[in-house]
Amino acid sequence: MPPSPLRAIPSVERLLQALGPLDVPRPVATAVVRRELTALRAAGKTAPVPDFDAVLARVRAALDRLRAARLQPVINGTGVLIHTNLGRAPLAEAALAAVAALGADYNNLEYDLTAGERGKSRAGYLEHNLALLCGAQAAAVMNNCAAALMLMLRYFVRREDRREVVISRGELVQIGGGFRVPEILEASGARLREVGTTNRTTLDDYEQALGPQTALILRVHRSNFYLGGFEESPDPAALAALARRRRVPLAEDLGSGATVPTERLAAIEHERTPAEAVRSGVDAVCFSGDKLFGGPQAGMIVGRARLVAAFKKEPFFRALRCDKLVLGALQATTDLYLSGTHEKQIPVLAMMRISLDDLRVRAERILSALAGLPFDARVGSARAKIGGGTLPRAELASVTLDFHPPPGVSLAEFATRLRAGTPPVIGYVSGSRFHLDLRTVFPRQDDALVLALRASFPDSCPS
Ligand SMILES: *Cc1c(COP(=O)(O)O)cnc(C)c1O
Repeated sequence: MPPSPLRAIPSVERLLQALGPLDVPRPVATAVVRRELTALRAAGKTAPVPDFDAVLARVRAALDRLRAARLQPVINGTGVLIHTNLGRAPLAEAALAAVAALGADYNNLEYDLTAGERGKSRAGYLEHNLALLCGAQAAAVMNNCAAALMLMLRYFVRREDRREVVISRGELVQIGGGFRVPEILEASGARLREVGTTNRTTLDDYEQALGPQTALILRVHRSNFYLGGFEESPDPAALAALARRRRVPLAEDLGSGATVPTERLAAIEHERTPAEAVRSGVDAVCFSGDKLFGGPQAGMIVGRARLVAAFKKEPFFRALRCDKLVLGALQATTDLYLSGTHEKQIPVLAMMRISLDDLRVRAERILSALAGLPFDARVGSARAKIGGGTLPRAELASVTLDFHPPPGVSLAEFATRLRAGTPPVIGYVSGSRFHLDLRTVFPRQDDALVLALRASFPDSCPS
């Protein structure tokens, strides 16, 4: 009788030993090995069991896939400054320091140091300063901008007989994955009252829709999308005046959270700021913490004190509140703006300001450090983008490293090797070259980038 093919399946222990030193916890490797062996056993009923090395290779590949899903720093060579897939805004040094200090020690999160008792607010200083920065009476902070919008909507539509939210058809947009304005409105319990058309909505359109059933007029920033040509929407101040006259609240979802005039940072258009929205008469404005504001993931609401207090009393607010680390990072970021040091110290703003000359010098330096490698590399030019669904038309002239893979290596394989490195390097393919845009690579990462490129083609390094 021939031996059962299943007898040929190696033991968990033998495979673990052959894997050598592990950079994941041992139970994780054990689980991966067990899963692969189970799959082999299932397949072994019909197919011959592969030899030990082939089994080991399968286990290694499975472990590599799992390891690649581990949250880790990457080098962003995409030229997209606020890349939602790559964690949006990198944090300022001051924000990182706040996270480290608050995380390591106890803190006064809910403790009033003056009175020596339980505090009334979790983020009194931050809320005070955020309101100041935005010229608003008050501010509240929660998990993200989607949560902030949801919270505002739930509050405004709390009355059964007053559920209608009036919004322009030109603002019923989808922003990134899973954020569709009509769906958010529906989920909040609001009844959607669309006005105007996709390209034109007038003040009169809004006015016609108002009635005793109106809970709110909502403006939503189109973010990742723009209208051109035959297009019209009412002046925000005129809309605010209408809302006031008809005693209907007006809220605005700004999204990006550009707090300083974007046109001062680079040759790009102006992005409406929370302070401008407040000044134009909007009662409550929400925006993201990790887009152009340049902080951690969060959603901010600024506006009238009475409203902000009411939002914070909503039971739902408790479910959306931020953790101390986020509050600490936001507090530090907000203070950078108020101190006037934001342009240099907040990474997304600093990256917008880097000159082409600086980028070229770095590109040449990196190129000379790559001399002798088997691929063709040269300095190129590109247009970097803001990303994160903000300023979709804005382009920043930028400098790239453009690579032509060595013979026998496809562009896709070149990109895959760089993604598999430590740290992973993410670029993009365009035409017959692989590009790394240096505007989104921090100068402190230049050496790591060179090492990663060298490590990706080890067999071809000159001695
Ligand atoms: C990005 C964006 C959001 C979602 O913000 P998150 O902080 O990711 O929840 C909501 N509204 C607008 C207009 C946006 O641009």
